[in-house]
Amino acid sequence: MTVDDLKHLVRTVPDFPAPGILFRDVTTLIGHGAGFAASIAHLADRARAAGAEAIAGMEARGFIFGAAVAAHMGLGFVPVRKPGKLPVPTIGIDYALEYGRDRLEIDPGAVSAGQRVVLVDDLIATGGTALAAMELLRSAGASVTHALFVIDLPDLHGAARLRDAGLTVDALMH
Ligand code: 5GP
Repeated sequence: MTVDDLKHLVRTVPDFPAPGILFRDVTTLIGHGAGFAASIAHLADRARAAGAEAIAGMEARGFIFGAAVAAHMGLGFVPVRKPGKLPVPTIGIDYALEYGRDRLEIDPGAVSAGQRVVLVDDLIATGGTALAAMELLRSAGASVTHALFVIDLPDLHGAARLRDAGLTVDALMH
């Protein structure tokens, strides 16, 4: 399936999670066997070109795509988690959301020094989540130079923010 075919499998839900917001829902994409497989194959091609040695994904939808890309490539997967979920001592980062703050945590032993870790998430909006994950993985010693998304919302300029921070950004659709 082409990337253009995949676009038709994403459902748009108005007024979620708040009035006036158009939510791009990937439930319908991952529920379509051929569409899910093709999206993983496309992401894996790009992760391979980026020289990925491991894949990191952000909780929760980044786990769905990131873990599948990692398995497809025979690489390990690093879960970037919401706070309080990991059973070992973690390192974490607080970051600003549109309204309020959030936090991401990792097991610092999940990456090795200089390991080329590629970030994967379902969608980039403002880029705040991906930037926080990049900083966290770098503080654990990983080399993070590429971030891959299924969907980029260009009006929110997240990809531009990531590029300004020195990341190469790619998305299957806009
Ligand atoms: P950002 O930090 O770039 O502003 O927001 C991206 C994060 O919020 C991603 O982890 C993504 O899963 C989630 N997100 C924000 N808006 C949407 C949306 O319209 N659809 C989906 N599927 N996720 C979204």
